[in-house]
Amino acid sequence: MAKVGRTTDGATPVELTDDAIQAFEARFAGPVITPGDPAYDETRALWNGVIDKRPAIIAQCTGTADVVEAVALAREHDLSVAVRGGGHNVAGYASADDGLVIDLSPMTGVFVDHEARTVRVQGGATLGQVDRETQLFGLATPLGVVSATGVAGLSLNGGLGHLRRKYGLACDNIVSAEIVTADGQVRTATVDQNDDLFWAIRGGGGNFGIVTSFEFRLYEVGPELPTLFIWYHGDDAVSVLKAYREYTKTASRDANTIAFTYAVPELDEFPEAAWGEPAVILFGAFDGSVADADAEFTQLKTLADPIVDFSDTLPYVALQSLLDEDYPDGLRYYWKSVYVDDLSDEVIDHIVRTHGESPSALSTVDIWHLGGAIADRDPDETAFANRNAPYMVTYEANWEDPSMDDDNVAWGRTGISDLRQFKGVAGAYGNFPGFDEAPGDLLFGENYDRLVEIKTTYDPTNLFKLNQNIVPRGASADD
Ligand code: FAD
Repeated sequence: MAKVGRTTDGATPVELTDDAIQAFEARFAGPVITPGDPAYDETRALWNGVIDKRPAIIAQCTGTADVVEAVALAREHDLSVAVRGGGHNVAGYASADDGLVIDLSPMTGVFVDHEARTVRVQGGATLGQVDRETQLFGLATPLGVVSATGVAGLSLNGGLGHLRRKYGLACDNIVSAEIVTADGQVRTATVDQNDDLFWAIRGGGGNFGIVTSFEFRLYEVGPELPTLFIWYHGDDAVSVLKAYREYTKTASRDANTIAFTYAVPELDEFPEAAWGEPAVILFGAFDGSVADADAEFTQLKTLADPIVDFSDTLPYVALQSLLDEDYPDGLRYYWKSVYVDDLSDEVIDHIVRTHGESPSALSTVDIWHLGGAIADRDPDETAFANRNAPYMVTYEANWEDPSMDDDNVAWGRTGISDLRQFKGVAGAYGNFPGFDEAPGDLLFGENYDRLVEIKTTYDPTNLFKLNQNIVPRGASADD
Protein backbone atom coordinates (compact mmCIF):
# COMPACT_ATOMS: atom_id res chain seq x y z
CA MET A 1 0.00 0.00 0.00
CA ALA A 2 1.36 3.42 -0.90
CA LYS A 3 1.96 5.92 1.91
CA VAL A 4 1.10 9.52 1.22
CA GLY A 5 3.36 12.36 2.24
CA ARG A 6 3.43 16.03 1.33
CA THR A 7 6.11 18.04 -0.42
CA THR A 8 7.98 20.87 1.24
CA ASP A 9 5.67 23.42 -0.35
CA GLY A 10 3.03 21.99 1.97
CA ALA A 11 0.53 21.38 -0.82
CA THR A 12 1.44 18.77 -3.40
CA PRO A 13 0.79 15.19 -2.30
CA VAL A 14 3.69 12.82 -2.90
CA GLU A 15 3.53 9.05 -3.03
CA LEU A 16 5.96 7.05 -0.95
CA THR A 17 5.69 3.41 -1.91
CA ASP A 18 6.12 0.54 0.51
CA ASP A 19 9.33 -0.25 -1.39
CA ALA A 20 10.69 3.23 -0.69
CA ILE A 21 9.83 2.94 2.99
CA GLN A 22 11.32 -0.53 3.24
CA ALA A 23 14.51 0.65 1.54
CA PHE A 24 14.69 3.47 4.08
CA GLU A 25 14.08 1.08 7.00
CA ALA A 26 16.96 -1.07 5.78
CA ARG A 27 19.32 1.91 5.98
CA PHE A 28 17.93 3.28 9.26
CA ALA A 29 18.74 1.75 12.64
CA GLY A 30 15.91 3.17 14.79
CA PRO A 31 12.16 2.52 14.70
CA VAL A 32 10.26 3.88 11.69
CA ILE A 33 6.66 4.52 12.67
CA THR A 34 3.84 5.10 10.20
CA PRO A 35 0.04 5.49 10.55
CA GLY A 36 -1.46 2.14 11.58
CA ASP A 37 1.51 1.25 13.74
CA PRO A 38 0.29 0.52 17.32
CA ALA A 39 2.83 3.07 18.63
CA TYR A 40 1.75 5.77 16.14
CA ASP A 41 -0.57 7.85 18.34
CA GLU A 42 1.70 7.76 21.37
CA THR A 43 4.75 8.65 19.27
CA ARG A 44 3.17 11.52 17.35
CA ALA A 45 1.75 13.18 20.49
CA LEU A 46 3.39 16.44 21.53
CA TRP A 47 3.43 18.17 24.92
CA ASN A 48 0.83 20.74 23.80
CA GLY A 49 -2.58 19.04 23.59
CA VAL A 50 -3.83 21.67 21.12
CA ILE A 51 -1.49 20.29 18.46
CA ASP A 52 -2.84 17.20 16.70
CA LYS A 53 -0.70 16.57 13.64
CA ARG A 54 -0.58 13.29 11.68
CA PRO A 55 2.85 12.78 10.11
CA ALA A 56 3.38 10.24 7.31
CA ILE A 57 6.60 8.89 8.87
CA ILE A 58 8.22 9.27 12.26
CA ALA A 59 11.90 8.30 12.02
CA GLN A 60 13.25 7.75 15.53
CA CYS A 61 16.97 8.33 15.25
CA THR A 62 19.52 6.37 17.27
CA GLY A 63 22.49 8.50 16.24
CA THR A 64 24.00 10.87 13.69
CA ALA A 65 23.98 8.25 10.91
CA ASP A 66 20.20 7.90 11.26
CA VAL A 67 19.79 11.67 11.09
CA VAL A 68 21.82 11.72 7.85
CA GLU A 69 19.62 8.95 6.39
CA ALA A 70 16.43 10.77 7.37
CA VAL A 71 17.62 14.02 5.79
CA ALA A 72 18.48 12.05 2.62
CA LEU A 73 14.95 10.57 2.55
CA ALA A 74 13.42 14.01 2.89
CA ARG A 75 15.52 15.38 0.06
CA GLU A 76 14.96 12.39 -2.21
CA HIS A 77 11.17 12.59 -1.90
CA ASP A 78 10.81 16.32 -1.28
CA LEU A 79 9.06 15.66 2.02
CA SER A 80 7.96 18.26 4.52
CA VAL A 81 10.33 17.92 7.50
CA ALA A 82 9.79 18.50 11.21
CA VAL A 83 12.62 18.06 13.73
CA ARG A 84 11.75 16.84 17.21
CA GLY A 85 14.01 17.37 20.22
CA GLY A 86 12.04 17.36 23.46
CA GLY A 87 8.67 17.95 21.73
CA HIS A 88 7.91 20.91 24.02
CA ASN A 89 7.62 23.82 21.62
CA VAL A 90 4.21 25.40 22.20
CA ALA A 91 3.66 26.02 18.47
CA GLY A 92 4.05 22.32 17.67
CA TYR A 93 6.99 22.74 15.29
CA ALA A 94 8.12 19.21 16.17
CA SER A 95 5.54 17.57 13.90
CA ALA A 96 4.16 17.96 10.37
CA ASP A 97 0.88 16.79 8.86
CA ASP A 98 1.71 14.19 6.17
CA GLY A 99 5.40 14.93 6.57
CA LEU A 100 8.53 13.29 7.95
CA VAL A 101 9.31 13.78 11.64
CA ILE A 102 13.03 13.42 12.28
CA ASP A 103 12.68 12.45 15.92
CA LEU A 104 15.78 12.75 18.09
CA SER A 105 14.01 11.76 21.31
CA PRO A 106 15.94 8.45 21.57
CA MET A 107 19.22 10.43 21.43
CA THR A 108 19.52 11.38 25.09
CA GLY A 109 23.20 10.71 25.83
CA VAL A 110 24.86 13.13 28.27
CA PHE A 111 28.63 12.88 28.79
CA VAL A 112 30.34 15.06 31.39
CA ASP A 113 34.04 15.94 31.21
CA HIS A 114 34.36 17.27 34.73
CA GLU A 115 38.01 18.19 34.35
CA ALA A 116 37.41 20.26 31.24
CA ARG A 117 34.14 21.54 32.77
CA THR A 118 32.14 20.69 29.67
CA VAL A 119 29.25 18.38 28.89
CA ARG A 120 28.33 16.82 25.55
CA VAL A 121 24.57 16.46 25.15
CA GLN A 122 22.77 14.63 22.34
CA GLY A 123 20.07 16.46 20.41
CA GLY A 124 17.08 14.72 22.02
CA ALA A 125 18.03 15.10 25.69
CA THR A 126 15.88 16.92 28.22
CA LEU A 127 17.03 19.43 30.83
CA GLY A 128 16.47 16.94 33.64
CA GLN A 129 18.75 14.39 31.98
CA VAL A 130 21.54 16.96 31.72
CA ASP A 131 21.17 18.29 35.28
CA ARG A 132 21.19 14.76 36.70
CA GLU A 133 24.55 13.93 35.13
CA THR A 134 26.27 17.27 35.68
CA GLN A 135 25.16 17.51 39.32
CA LEU A 136 27.00 14.24 40.03
CA PHE A 137 30.07 16.49 39.87
CA GLY A 138 28.47 19.56 41.47
CA LEU A 139 28.31 21.22 38.05
CA ALA A 140 25.57 22.73 35.87
CA THR A 141 25.08 24.61 32.63
CA PRO A 142 22.37 27.30 32.40
CA LEU A 143 19.22 25.75 30.83
CA GLY A 144 15.54 26.35 31.68
CA VAL A 145 13.25 25.90 34.68
CA VAL A 146 11.19 22.77 33.82
CA SER A 147 12.98 19.44 33.62
CA ALA A 148 11.04 17.81 30.74
CA THR A 149 11.88 20.60 28.27
CA GLY A 150 14.16 19.67 25.36
CA VAL A 151 17.69 21.04 25.51
CA ALA A 152 17.90 21.45 21.73
CA GLY A 153 14.90 23.68 21.04
CA LEU A 154 15.51 25.68 24.20
CA SER A 155 19.20 26.33 23.52
CA LEU A 156 18.90 27.05 19.81
CA ASN A 157 16.42 29.86 20.52
CA GLY A 158 18.21 31.29 23.58
CA GLY A 159 17.40 29.48 26.83
CA LEU A 160 16.42 31.30 30.04
CA GLY A 161 16.84 29.57 33.39
CA HIS A 162 17.79 29.99 37.03
CA LEU A 163 21.41 30.90 36.17
CA ARG A 164 20.72 33.37 33.35
CA ARG A 165 21.86 36.60 35.00
CA LYS A 166 25.03 35.00 36.29
CA TYR A 167 26.13 32.85 33.34
CA GLY A 168 23.94 34.00 30.44
CA LEU A 169 21.60 32.19 28.09
CA ALA A 170 21.89 28.48 27.37
CA CYS A 171 23.09 29.38 23.85
CA ASP A 172 25.84 31.59 25.32
CA ASN A 173 27.36 28.48 26.86
CA ILE A 174 27.50 26.35 23.72
CA VAL A 175 31.16 25.57 23.03
CA SER A 176 30.59 23.45 19.95
CA ALA A 177 27.85 21.61 18.10
CA GLU A 178 27.66 18.75 15.60
CA ILE A 179 25.12 19.57 12.92
CA VAL A 180 23.65 17.68 9.98
CA THR A 181 22.93 20.32 7.38
CA ALA A 182 20.36 20.10 4.56
CA ASP A 183 22.94 18.67 2.13
CA GLY A 184 23.44 15.71 4.49
CA GLN A 185 26.93 16.81 5.57
CA VAL A 186 27.95 16.40 9.22
CA ARG A 187 29.57 19.65 10.29
CA THR A 188 31.20 20.87 13.46
CA ALA A 189 30.47 24.44 14.51
CA THR A 190 32.78 26.22 16.92
CA VAL A 191 34.28 29.66 17.22
CA ASP A 192 37.06 28.48 14.84
CA GLN A 193 35.22 26.05 12.56
CA ASN A 194 32.16 27.01 10.49
CA ASP A 195 32.04 30.13 12.62
CA ASP A 196 29.08 31.55 10.66
CA LEU A 197 27.04 28.48 11.52
CA PHE A 198 28.21 28.68 15.12
CA TRP A 199 27.05 32.30 15.30
CA ALA A 200 23.67 31.45 13.73
CA ILE A 201 22.70 28.48 15.92
CA ARG A 202 23.14 30.57 19.06
CA GLY A 203 19.69 32.14 18.88
CA GLY A 204 18.66 31.43 15.27
CA GLY A 205 16.65 28.30 16.16
CA GLY A 206 16.44 25.12 14.10
CA ASN A 207 16.87 26.87 10.75
CA PHE A 208 20.37 25.75 9.87
CA GLY A 209 20.36 21.99 10.35
CA ILE A 210 19.79 19.24 12.87
CA VAL A 211 22.01 19.45 15.92
CA THR A 212 22.96 15.91 16.87
CA SER A 213 25.01 17.04 19.87
CA PHE A 214 25.99 20.16 21.77
CA GLU A 215 28.97 20.80 24.00
CA PHE A 216 28.17 23.18 26.86
CA ARG A 217 30.38 24.96 29.39
CA LEU A 218 29.83 23.94 33.04
CA TYR A 219 30.00 25.87 36.32
CA GLU A 220 30.07 24.89 39.97
CA VAL A 221 26.46 25.08 41.13
CA GLY A 222 24.76 23.69 44.24
CA PRO A 223 24.31 20.94 45.19
CA GLU A 224 21.76 23.03 47.14
CA LEU A 225 20.45 26.51 46.36
CA PRO A 226 18.40 28.90 48.50
CA THR A 227 15.10 29.65 46.76
CA LEU A 228 12.39 32.29 46.89
CA PHE A 229 8.77 31.13 46.49
CA ILE A 230 6.35 33.47 48.21
CA TRP A 231 2.64 33.91 47.41
CA TYR A 232 0.87 37.24 48.05
CA HIS A 233 -2.84 38.07 47.76
CA GLY A 234 -4.04 39.46 44.45
CA ASP A 235 -5.24 42.60 46.24
CA ASP A 236 -1.57 43.40 46.86
CA ALA A 237 -0.47 42.56 43.30
CA VAL A 238 0.09 46.15 42.13
CA SER A 239 2.10 47.20 45.19
CA VAL A 240 4.09 43.93 45.21
CA LEU A 241 4.98 44.32 41.54
CA LYS A 242 6.01 47.95 42.05
CA ALA A 243 8.28 46.90 44.90
CA TYR A 244 9.60 44.05 42.73
CA ARG A 245 10.45 46.61 40.03
CA GLU A 246 12.49 48.62 42.54
CA TYR A 247 14.25 45.47 43.78
CA THR A 248 15.31 44.44 40.27
CA LYS A 249 17.15 47.73 39.74
CA THR A 250 19.88 46.69 42.18
CA ALA A 251 19.48 42.89 42.26
CA SER A 252 22.53 40.67 42.53
CA ARG A 253 23.50 38.57 39.51
CA ASP A 254 23.39 35.58 41.84
CA ALA A 255 19.62 36.13 42.10
CA ASN A 256 17.32 35.02 39.29
CA THR A 257 13.66 35.76 39.89
CA ILE A 258 10.31 35.75 38.13
CA ALA A 259 7.14 37.48 39.34
CA PHE A 260 3.89 35.96 38.13
CA THR A 261 0.16 36.25 38.59
CA TYR A 262 -1.88 33.09 39.11
CA ALA A 263 -4.99 31.79 40.89
CA VAL A 264 -4.35 29.91 44.15
CA PRO A 265 -4.66 26.17 43.35
CA GLU A 266 -7.11 24.06 45.34
CA LEU A 267 -4.37 22.06 47.01
CA ASP A 268 -3.78 21.14 50.65
CA GLU A 269 -0.55 23.11 50.88
CA PHE A 270 -2.55 26.35 50.46
CA PRO A 271 -5.03 27.72 53.03
CA GLU A 272 -8.51 26.69 51.89
CA ALA A 273 -9.82 30.21 52.39
CA ALA A 274 -7.50 31.40 49.61
CA TRP A 275 -8.35 28.68 47.04
CA GLY A 276 -9.18 30.18 43.67
CA GLU A 277 -8.35 33.76 44.62
CA PRO A 278 -5.89 35.75 42.50
CA ALA A 279 -2.30 35.77 43.73
CA VAL A 280 1.03 37.28 42.81
CA ILE A 281 4.05 35.06 43.31
CA LEU A 282 7.77 35.85 43.54
CA PHE A 283 9.79 32.83 42.51
CA GLY A 284 13.51 32.28 42.01
CA ALA A 285 16.83 31.06 43.28
CA PHE A 286 20.11 32.40 44.57
CA ASP A 287 23.41 30.87 43.49
CA GLY A 288 25.29 31.57 46.72
CA SER A 289 25.17 31.15 50.48
CA VAL A 290 22.01 31.08 52.59
CA ALA A 291 23.18 34.21 54.42
CA ASP A 292 23.66 36.13 51.18
CA ALA A 293 20.33 34.87 49.88
CA ASP A 294 18.62 36.08 53.05
CA ALA A 295 20.21 39.48 52.62
CA GLU A 296 18.96 39.57 49.03
CA PHE A 297 15.46 38.13 49.40
CA THR A 298 14.27 39.41 52.80
CA GLN A 299 13.10 42.63 51.16
CA LEU A 300 10.89 40.53 48.84
CA LYS A 301 9.43 38.48 51.69
CA THR A 302 8.08 41.39 53.70
CA LEU A 303 6.03 43.23 51.10
CA ALA A 304 2.59 42.32 52.53
CA ASP A 305 0.91 39.52 54.45
CA PRO A 306 1.74 36.42 52.39
CA ILE A 307 -0.76 33.65 51.64
CA VAL A 308 2.07 31.19 52.06
CA ASP A 309 5.86 31.18 51.84
CA PHE A 310 7.45 28.05 50.37
CA SER A 311 10.95 29.57 50.19
CA ASP A 312 13.48 26.93 51.16
CA THR A 313 16.94 25.59 50.39
CA LEU A 314 16.63 22.89 47.72
CA PRO A 315 18.89 20.53 45.80
CA TYR A 316 19.51 22.09 42.37
CA VAL A 317 17.83 19.15 40.60
CA ALA A 318 14.75 19.57 42.83
CA LEU A 319 14.62 23.28 42.01
CA GLN A 320 14.85 22.42 38.31
CA SER A 321 11.76 20.21 38.57
CA LEU A 322 9.76 22.24 41.11
CA LEU A 323 7.32 23.50 38.46
CA ASP A 324 7.09 20.26 36.44
CA GLU A 325 3.67 19.20 37.67
CA ASP A 326 2.14 22.51 36.59
CA TYR A 327 2.82 21.65 32.93
CA PRO A 328 1.48 18.14 32.27
CA ASP A 329 1.67 16.56 28.83
CA GLY A 330 -1.52 16.95 26.83
CA LEU A 331 -2.98 20.01 28.58
CA ARG A 332 -3.75 22.89 26.20
CA TYR A 333 -1.25 25.76 25.95
CA TYR A 334 -0.62 29.04 24.14
CA TRP A 335 2.41 31.07 25.29
CA LYS A 336 3.65 34.36 23.91
CA SER A 337 6.21 36.88 25.07
CA VAL A 338 7.53 40.40 24.66
CA TYR A 339 10.51 42.33 26.05
CA VAL A 340 9.91 45.29 28.37
CA ASP A 341 12.38 48.11 29.10
CA ASP A 342 10.38 49.76 31.82
CA LEU A 343 8.01 48.02 34.21
CA SER A 344 5.99 51.21 34.40
CA ASP A 345 2.87 51.65 36.53
CA GLU A 346 0.82 51.33 33.31
CA VAL A 347 2.48 48.04 32.38
CA ILE A 348 1.91 46.67 35.89
CA ASP A 349 -1.75 47.74 35.81
CA HIS A 350 -2.17 46.08 32.42
CA ILE A 351 -0.68 42.80 33.66
CA VAL A 352 -2.81 42.67 36.80
CA ARG A 353 -6.01 43.68 35.01
CA THR A 354 -5.63 41.29 32.09
CA HIS A 355 -4.71 38.39 34.33
CA GLY A 356 -8.07 38.93 36.00
CA GLU A 357 -9.74 38.58 32.58
CA SER A 358 -8.20 35.19 31.80
CA PRO A 359 -10.78 32.54 30.81
CA SER A 360 -8.75 29.87 32.65
CA ALA A 361 -7.69 29.68 36.28
CA LEU A 362 -4.54 27.83 35.16
CA SER A 363 -3.13 30.78 33.20
CA THR A 364 -0.36 33.10 34.35
CA VAL A 365 1.32 36.33 33.34
CA ASP A 366 5.05 36.09 34.04
CA ILE A 367 7.66 38.83 34.45
CA TRP A 368 11.15 37.42 33.96
CA HIS A 369 13.98 39.55 35.33
CA LEU A 370 16.76 39.51 32.70
CA GLY A 371 19.92 41.63 32.42
CA GLY A 372 23.19 40.63 34.07
CA ALA A 373 25.27 38.27 31.92
CA ILE A 374 22.63 38.21 29.16
CA ALA A 375 23.32 41.90 28.51
CA ASP A 376 27.11 41.57 28.78
CA ARG A 377 27.23 40.46 25.16
CA ASP A 378 26.46 42.79 22.28
CA PRO A 379 23.25 42.01 20.38
CA ASP A 380 25.28 41.03 17.30
CA GLU A 381 27.72 38.76 19.13
CA THR A 382 25.39 35.80 18.55
CA ALA A 383 22.14 35.48 16.58
CA PHE A 384 20.14 36.09 19.79
CA ALA A 385 19.43 39.81 19.45
CA ASN A 386 17.12 40.87 22.28
CA ARG A 387 19.74 41.18 25.01
CA ASN A 388 19.24 44.60 26.51
CA ALA A 389 15.72 44.57 27.94
CA PRO A 390 15.68 44.08 31.72
CA TYR A 391 12.37 42.18 31.61
CA MET A 392 10.43 39.72 29.50
CA VAL A 393 6.67 39.39 29.97
CA THR A 394 5.00 36.14 28.94
CA TYR A 395 1.30 35.41 28.72
CA GLU A 396 0.93 31.70 29.47
CA ALA A 397 -2.58 30.54 28.57
CA ASN A 398 -3.02 27.06 30.07
CA TRP A 399 -6.44 25.35 29.91
CA GLU A 400 -8.24 22.01 29.74
CA ASP A 401 -11.41 22.43 27.71
CA PRO A 402 -10.97 22.22 23.89
CA SER A 403 -14.13 24.25 23.39
CA MET A 404 -12.31 27.16 25.07
CA ASP A 405 -9.34 27.14 22.65
CA ASP A 406 -10.29 30.34 20.84
CA ASP A 407 -10.98 32.28 24.06
CA ASN A 408 -7.69 31.29 25.64
CA VAL A 409 -5.60 31.96 22.55
CA ALA A 410 -7.32 35.34 22.15
CA TRP A 411 -6.57 36.18 25.78
CA GLY A 412 -2.83 35.53 25.38
CA ARG A 413 -2.61 37.15 21.97
CA THR A 414 -4.49 40.29 23.00
CA GLY A 415 -2.63 40.59 26.28
CA ILE A 416 0.65 40.79 24.36
CA SER A 417 -0.58 42.97 21.48
CA ASP A 418 -2.11 45.48 23.90
CA LEU A 419 1.12 45.51 25.91
CA ARG A 420 2.98 46.54 22.77
CA GLN A 421 1.30 49.95 22.86
CA PHE A 422 3.35 50.92 25.94
CA LYS A 423 6.72 52.64 25.65
CA GLY A 424 9.77 50.35 25.60
CA VAL A 425 7.80 47.17 24.83
CA ALA A 426 9.32 45.36 21.85
CA GLY A 427 10.65 42.14 20.32
CA ALA A 428 9.60 38.55 20.93
CA TYR A 429 11.23 35.44 22.40
CA GLY A 430 11.59 32.46 20.04
CA ASN A 431 10.87 29.91 22.74
CA PHE A 432 7.47 31.40 23.63
CA PRO A 433 6.29 32.02 20.07
CA GLY A 434 2.49 31.83 20.17
CA PHE A 435 1.34 29.76 17.22
CA ASP A 436 3.99 30.59 14.62
CA GLU A 437 3.22 34.27 14.38
CA ALA A 438 6.34 36.22 15.39
CA PRO A 439 7.95 37.93 12.39
CA GLY A 440 11.74 37.67 12.00
CA ASP A 441 12.44 41.33 12.74
CA LEU A 442 10.84 40.99 16.20
CA LEU A 443 12.92 37.92 16.99
CA PHE A 444 16.21 38.75 15.35
CA GLY A 445 16.29 42.55 15.03
CA GLU A 446 19.41 43.81 13.27
CA ASN A 447 20.74 40.25 12.98
CA TYR A 448 18.05 39.22 10.51
CA ASP A 449 19.90 40.00 7.25
CA ARG A 450 23.02 38.10 8.35
CA LEU A 451 20.82 35.14 9.31
CA VAL A 452 19.22 35.16 5.85
CA GLU A 453 22.71 34.98 4.29
CA ILE A 454 23.72 32.03 6.47
CA LYS A 455 20.39 30.29 5.87
CA THR A 456 20.93 30.71 2.12
CA THR A 457 24.37 29.09 2.42
CA TYR A 458 23.37 26.08 4.50
CA ASP A 459 19.69 25.52 3.62
CA PRO A 460 19.00 27.19 0.24
CA THR A 461 15.76 25.24 -0.36
CA ASN A 462 14.39 25.83 3.16
CA LEU A 463 14.25 22.13 4.05
CA PHE A 464 14.15 23.15 7.73
CA LYS A 465 11.20 25.50 7.70
CA LEU A 466 9.06 24.27 10.59
CA ASN A 467 10.57 26.67 13.13
CA GLN A 468 10.79 30.45 13.55
CA ASN A 469 11.54 30.40 9.88
CA ILE A 470 14.23 32.47 8.25
CA VAL A 471 13.46 32.33 4.55
CA PRO A 472 16.57 31.89 2.36
CA ARG A 473 17.22 34.39 -0.39
CA GLY A 474 15.37 33.47 -3.58
CA ALA A 475 12.73 31.40 -1.78
CA SER A 476 9.32 32.56 -0.61
CA ALA A 477 7.75 31.86 2.77
CA ASP A 478 5.13 29.73 0.97
CA ASP A 479 7.62 27.52 -0.94
P1 FAD B 1 10.68 20.66 20.09
O1 FAD B 1 9.22 20.95 20.09
O2 FAD B 1 11.13 19.26 20.06
O3 FAD B 1 11.36 21.40 18.91
C1 FAD B 1 11.05 22.72 18.59
C2 FAD B 1 11.86 23.18 17.45
O4 FAD B 1 13.22 23.27 17.86
C3 FAD B 1 11.91 22.23 16.27
O5 FAD B 1 10.90 22.40 15.39
C4 FAD B 1 13.22 22.58 15.65
O6 FAD B 1 13.10 23.77 14.91
C5 FAD B 1 14.07 22.86 16.83
N1 FAD B 1 14.82 21.67 17.24
C6 FAD B 1 14.52 20.79 18.22
N2 FAD B 1 15.50 19.89 18.33
C7 FAD B 1 16.41 20.21 17.40
C8 FAD B 1 17.67 19.67 17.03
N3 FAD B 1 18.19 18.63 17.67
N4 FAD B 1 18.35 20.27 16.03
C9 FAD B 1 17.85 21.35 15.39
N5 FAD B 1 16.67 21.88 15.70
C10 FAD B 1 15.98 21.33 16.70
N6 FAD B 1 12.23 28.24 27.60
C11 FAD B 1 13.16 28.90 28.30
O7 FAD B 1 13.99 29.60 27.73
N7 FAD B 1 13.24 28.80 29.66
C12 FAD B 1 12.39 28.02 30.36
O8 FAD B 1 12.49 27.95 31.56
C13 FAD B 1 11.37 27.32 29.66
N8 FAD B 1 10.49 26.54 30.31
C14 FAD B 1 9.60 25.81 29.61
C15 FAD B 1 8.73 24.95 30.28
C16 FAD B 1 7.84 24.17 29.59
C17 FAD B 1 6.91 23.24 30.33
C18 FAD B 1 7.79 24.25 28.18
C19 FAD B 1 6.82 23.44 27.42
C20 FAD B 1 8.62 25.12 27.51
C21 FAD B 1 9.53 25.89 28.21
N9 FAD B 1 10.39 26.77 27.55
C22 FAD B 1 11.34 27.46 28.25
C23 FAD B 1 10.28 26.95 26.10
C24 FAD B 1 11.17 25.94 25.40
O9 FAD B 1 12.48 26.44 25.40
C25 FAD B 1 10.70 25.71 23.96
O10 FAD B 1 9.41 25.17 23.99
C26 FAD B 1 11.64 24.82 23.18
O11 FAD B 1 11.28 24.87 21.82
C27 FAD B 1 11.58 23.39 23.64
O12 FAD B 1 12.54 22.64 22.99
P2 FAD B 1 12.22 21.15 22.51
O13 FAD B 1 13.47 20.55 22.03
O14 FAD B 1 11.47 20.45 23.60
O15 FAD B 1 11.26 21.52 21.31
